Amino acid sequence: MSLPRVVLKPGKSKPFYARHPWVLDSAVARIEGDPADGAAVDLFSEKEKFIARGIVNGRSRIRVRLYTWDPGEPLDDAFWRWRLERAVRLRQVLGYDDPQGAARLVFSEGDGLSGLIVDRYAEYLALRPTALAVAQRLPQWMPMLLELTGAQGAVLRCEPGIARTEGVDLADGPCAGRVPPETIEIRDHGLRYAVDLGGGQKTGFYLDQRENRAAAARYLRGRRVLDVFCYTGGFALTAAALGGAREVLGVDSSRQAVALAEQNARRNGLSGVRFQVGEAFEILEQLAGAGERFGAVIVDPPKFARSRRALPEALRAYHWLNRLALSVLEPDGILVTCSCSGHVSREDFFHVLVGVAQQTRRSVQILEQRGAAPDHPILSSCPESEYLKCFICRA
Ligand code: SAH
Repeated sequence: MSLPRVVLKPGKSKPFYARHPWVLDSAVARIEGDPADGAAVDLFSEKEKFIARGIVNGRSRIRVRLYTWDPGEPLDDAFWRWRLERAVRLRQVLGYDDPQGAARLVFSEGDGLSGLIVDRYAEYLALRPTALAVAQRLPQWMPMLLELTGAQGAVLRCEPGIARTEGVDLADGPCAGRVPPETIEIRDHGLRYAVDLGGGQKTGFYLDQRENRAAAARYLRGRRVLDVFCYTGGFALTAAALGGAREVLGVDSSRQAVALAEQNARRNGLSGVRFQVGEAFEILEQLAGAGERFGAVIVDPPKFARSRRALPEALRAYHWLNRLALSVLEPDGILVTCSCSGHVSREDFFHVLVGVAQQTRRSVQILEQRGAAPDHPILSSCPESEYLKCFICRA
């Protein structure tokens, strides 16, 4: 069966032979056969050579998302099922299969499923479609996902802005199987957390920091720890319980997040962990001004660079934030500093720290340069699938 064809402009084929999955509108010369948005298409070079097969969306800047480089491989139920199955199986290999635990089961490009994120929270799934191609196919995929994972039910948590970027109109909420309770309890590194599946940030919990929380905890014994941008307490609780921190203060601007963090501390019987609602930069300045000092500071801010254009400003914000963090850090204290902006490269972030060290005249020793947990695989042909940097330093 021959599919509608998307033909590239001269000189634009190389990344797609190298298996980059996003064909931007600017690379496309013409589309033959008038495919509907969401239909399967074949991608051809300007010399009319087959490159790959994907799904077109005339309303998105990502005009085609590519899924297979095998000529003639149909994008049918068997194909998608196999992709989903491979993704789920990887998490078993990783040992991320504690039935009471949480894990990212599908990480979009990282799992060859551009536009789909699936997180498992104990017995429930949270689905985050980021592409029309995926949104249209969810009714077929949902039963497969429930069957492959044994999950009781699933909820939809759409990427804000997907209506604008992809022309998708989907409402958040329960979408398959049983309706989950308002909060779900999950277990992570032996700690119990309440996750708000319907109303929390992203899909409810920052799964990408899982291994970094445990790695950071190893440096924190007996220390007084400040966890800035603490959300529901992931780093703070791990610092206290696994790390044996003496005292922990978590700060976040979200009242709901802090309320859940406090509840999580109680849930695990952890005293010595306090939380405060506040704006990170202001609180750091206040603490510094009051002469407060910590044996470790963790900074895990939200994405500062939303576009490439915003990069210079974002780098200044990272610089200023890390300077403030050092201003409340004792000599030989531990700094755990993160950036989840995909537009900020590992090298950029490293240079932020170089600049901060120079200007504060402190020697910063980088002990570990870490990334997202392995249930967020980085696809070699899609550098955009790497976004999280987490450096553990002594200053
Ligand atoms: N460290 C957390 C995840 C942090 S995500 C974890 O391990 O789970 C970033 C957090 O920063 C969010 O919880 C958000 O509410 C908070 N935030 C965003 N802007 C902020 C600001 N200006 N001051 C303080 N917190 C902020």
